[in-house]
Amino acid sequence: GEWLGMLGGGQLGRMFCHEAQKLGYKVVVLDPSGNSPAGMVAERHMAAAYDDIVALKELAASTPAVTTEFENVPASSLKQLSASCRVTPGAAAVAVVQDRIAEKAFISAQDIPVAPYCEVRDVSDLEQAQDALFPGILKVARLGYDGKGQQRVSSRAEAIEAFRTFGQIPCVLEAMLPLDYEISVVMARAISGETAIFPIGINTHENGILASTVVAEGLVKEDLAKQAREAALRIAEGLNYQGVMCVEFFVLSDGRLIANEIAPRPHNSGHYTMDACVTSQFEQQVRVMTGMPLGATDLLTPVVMLNILGDCWFNGNASHAREPQWHDILAIPGVSLHLYGKDEPRPGRKVGHINVVGTTIEQAKERARDVIRKMGIRTVLS
Ligand code: ATP
Ligand code: MG
Ligand code: MG
Repeated sequence: GEWLGMLGGGQLGRMFCHEAQKLGYKVVVLDPSGNSPAGMVAERHMAAAYDDIVALKELAASTPAVTTEFENVPASSLKQLSASCRVTPGAAAVAVVQDRIAEKAFISAQDIPVAPYCEVRDVSDLEQAQDALFPGILKVARLGYDGKGQQRVSSRAEAIEAFRTFGQIPCVLEAMLPLDYEISVVMARAISGETAIFPIGINTHENGILASTVVAEGLVKEDLAKQAREAALRIAEGLNYQGVMCVEFFVLSDGRLIANEIAPRPHNSGHYTMDACVTSQFEQQVRVMTGMPLGATDLLTPVVMLNILGDCWFNGNASHAREPQWHDILAIPGVSLHLYGKDEPRPGRKVGHINVVGTTIEQAKERARDVIRKMGIRTVLS
């Protein structure tokens, strides 16, 4: 079979490998670490830095198409690869979304509401920030994820303090918004410009990390879903985006929809597609990069996705790791377990997820609550 290239060796790359292999492709993974979750299942693993010019050359020579699972891969590396292979998403789109300052400016320019914010490049930006931005959240412009690189600040003084702690690197200060709930649009845009949008789920977060996604027909009101789909499409068109992407939105207590951020790759909130949709988000990624038609995104069944964090290994005993009792959890009907093969289940680290399906959303949630009890976690479903 033909080769496909993947930049990044995390779980998103691993699930991509599985889907690419299902379709008869071989995958070469480039990742800095020697044994990454994706590298373990790929046909070939190149251990090199993402900006290693020699390694990128070798990668480009070994595959006709490259994608990424890591939003912070240097845009310059994508640019270099694009000289000799098809790179989706492209360097220009990734450059925008990997910098919160450029990302927020871009989304606003599409007439899509974002949280009130200001750019922060030095202390004076915070001294001059509008009072309306407090209480707020200071977020580093680059390299933040899973709530890392951001801090809630109740006052200007606290914001300045946090900015100093971050090392005075470029940031954005956002007003803290009254969230009712969060939704995300996972979609694909093909090289042809064709688009396909997956059903919209409701997400819950714990400590800044996604905890669950619930998806069922009619769960998100149609007018809101339509608004979110239209905004995501406008973003994808505006970026001339090629690939799978996700737009995270906040739904405020007054019903308004606010775009939070864009991920230039399959997204954790799209993991439910693996067991509940005709096409998974990872198969869709393969389809885009190989120029195949996009797959159907229909929802086959109501579903609850639960993230498994390393914390589950330490329930009740912080010093002694104990693996959850998968035997008991897999005895629950409708449960599908996905583990990422990570060697060290550290707290706060994503080590797997569980999709729970049911005939009705009530049944899927009931089964998911059973999983939650057996895992000893505290997730509250929306
Ligand atoms: P990830 O990339 O893993 O989704 P991140 O580190 O990039 O996370 P954000 O998505 O910006 O961070 O924020 C993480 C979570 O913090 C959001 O999903 C939301 O629950 C909360 N949050 C972020 N910004 C705001 C805001 N302006 N008002 C209220 N809550 C917010
Ligand atoms: Mg993010
Ligand atoms: Mg986010």
